Amino acid sequence: MNAPTPAPASAPGAAPKPAFKQKVFSGVQPTGNLHLGNYLGAIAKFVELQTSYDCIYCVVDLHAITVWQDPRELPKAIREVTAAFLACGIDPKKHIVFNQSQVAEHAELAWVFNCVARLGWLNRMTQFKEKAGKDRENASVGLYAYPNLMAADILVYRATHVPVGEDQKQHLELSRDIAQKFNNDYGDSIRAHGFGDAFFPQPEPLIQGPATRVMSLRDGSKKMSKSDASDQSRINLTDDPDTIAHKIRRAKTDPEPLPHDAKALEARAEADNLVGIYAALAGVGKAEVLKQFGGAQFSTFKPALADLLVAKLSPITAEMRRIKEDFAYIDSVLADGAARAQLLASETMKAVKDIVGLVRR
Ligand code: ATP
Ligand code: MG
Repeated sequence: MNAPTPAPASAPGAAPKPAFKQKVFSGVQPTGNLHLGNYLGAIAKFVELQTSYDCIYCVVDLHAITVWQDPRELPKAIREVTAAFLACGIDPKKHIVFNQSQVAEHAELAWVFNCVARLGWLNRMTQFKEKAGKDRENASVGLYAYPNLMAADILVYRATHVPVGEDQKQHLELSRDIAQKFNNDYGDSIRAHGFGDAFFPQPEPLIQGPATRVMSLRDGSKKMSKSDASDQSRINLTDDPDTIAHKIRRAKTDPEPLPHDAKALEARAEADNLVGIYAALAGVGKAEVLKQFGGAQFSTFKPALADLLVAKLSPITAEMRRIKEDFAYIDSVLADGAARAQLLASETMKAVKDIVGLVRR
């Protein structure tokens, strides 16, 4: 018998890894106002990756309901994230755009992963601790098991690359652990069914660039987030130019001028954040920004940053507003994407059932 392995590890001398077709998967939750962190940390990367990979981009509505969502608001939020994907330049014909709940295989594989992942692994997840807060006993079971569903989202397509913000790094590592433990526990069956030495790939996080963790404009130690009570803490993708300029003007900073050297930003969280945002929007590194603004006061830098934000975000905001009105179009994109995604996901699920030993039709 192939005994379950307690922890993932690539054993020395293990058989060479099979080559998996390179594929990108990522998701965004329809949980509220999309913000600059979602754009720079995730959606802008999604757009770039389209030229070099087959991509699957998902509105992860089953993740959203791990915390309470008003059923009257949720459909709007699902369509709004879809509109944002399209407005930012994701091509739903060349790639796949859909909402998670339309492809039941995500939830089905998540159940198998609930039985692969260990309680000890989930107990280490910092996002659960942050989101559950002090009232942990009252958090949903879904919020706790969220990372297993995320692993299923990725692995039901056997995706190899996952663009995410820095905050999702730990969940990605868990996905890799789950893939590895499944491959180990069911190794004999995987081989017996002709899938070689590993059925699931080890998905690689793609976390790169100067804005992988955009921070709150009010507190440089907290990530910019949809759920922050203060709207002043974030730039929403729906903000108009005046609101953007106002929020940047009021953004917390320190009294010093900007340094000439990026190393000096390490001890200055708020300054580091604003320089990182500028760098990401301009498509350069932080050092480049400091070449231009080193020695300048925030009274000079902030208006330049606001102008750049408005120049980059206004066309997206306008396009989002236009697309958002057209429910029929958005719903057709989601239906078409879901049908194409399901073809892929159902192949994986059939194989998983065979590997696990579940009798199927
Ligand atoms: P929630 O508070 O509901 O979790 P969120 O703002 O974290 O919302 P998600 O839908 O969970 O948004 O995340 C979507 C993507 O955006 C993920 O890849 C995540 O890593 C990225 N992301 C979220 N916040 C930031 C941020 N402040 N900086 C960079 N990337 C971010
Ligand atoms: Mg999040």
